[in-house]
Amino acid sequence: MPTYIVLLGPPGAGKGTQAKVLAQKFGLPHISSGDIFRENLKNGTELGKLAQTFMSKGELVPDDVTIAMIRERFERPDCENGAILDGFPRTPTQADALENALADFGGRVNLVPYITAPEEVLIERLAGRWTCRAIGHIFHEKFNPPQQPGRCDLDGSELYQRDDDKAETVKHRIQVYLDQTSPLIEYYRSRGTLVEINGFQPIEQVSGQLMTALKR
Ligand code: ADP
Ligand code: ADP
Repeated sequence: MPTYIVLLGPPGAGKGTQAKVLAQKFGLPHISSGDIFRENLKNGTELGKLAQTFMSKGELVPDDVTIAMIRERFERPDCENGAILDGFPRTPTQADALENALADFGGRVNLVPYITAPEEVLIERLAGRWTCRAIGHIFHEKFNPPQQPGRCDLDGSELYQRDDDKAETVKHRIQVYLDQTSPLIEYYRSRGTLVEINGFQPIEQVSGQLMTALKR
């Protein structure tokens, strides 16, 4: 049976950071909807241009566009054994679409780690986040600094600060999360798949708590 893990939590909780750890440990692909949109933008596709009009304002990209994109991603052969989903689903409509899509592939969402941290922590994290151009490896100027400033430790590419990580946009993204994504906490709790993870601890400790939850 394939294994699908959905990482849920506000922007800055540490979903991307932990998704990379889990993907490596389990040999599953890390699927980040935000990364796919940014990749499309970099390549100048129509999808990228459309997504950017929402991303730059901290709004969600419309459900139909996002769902079609993720469905296409699932069809790639590397998803055969499952995936670590980061940033998708973000609305109940997306969660329903995910359930239907996985049913088609004979799978289901096995576990939903819900990673939390206080709002002021989220803001500080996003303000200092540095992302790699090549494939979105994540660093923090204080909490997880690269060995060489401005260079990704893993692939040597340039690190940049995301446009939507500036303070005003971050505040709006957190509000959008509360309004549109937080209903998924109850959605997955009612299905018995939610497990709460304290994201306000050092990165290794969060990973440890996640591994414990996954072994159960
Ligand atoms: P998300 O994907 O949930 O938005 P990220 O994984 O991109 O979050 O993390 C946001 C920022 O916070 C990054 O700069 C990352 O290096 C840093 N970070 C992630 N987890 C922790 C942690 N447990 N403690 C301190 N900083 C963290
Ligand atoms: P973060 O790591 O801070 O949580 P992401 O990289 O996941 O941010 O998302 C960046 C932006 O991409 C979002 O603010 C939104 O505009 C768009 N986006 C990403 N995933 C989705 C999704 N599932 N549905 C709609 N919009 C999305």
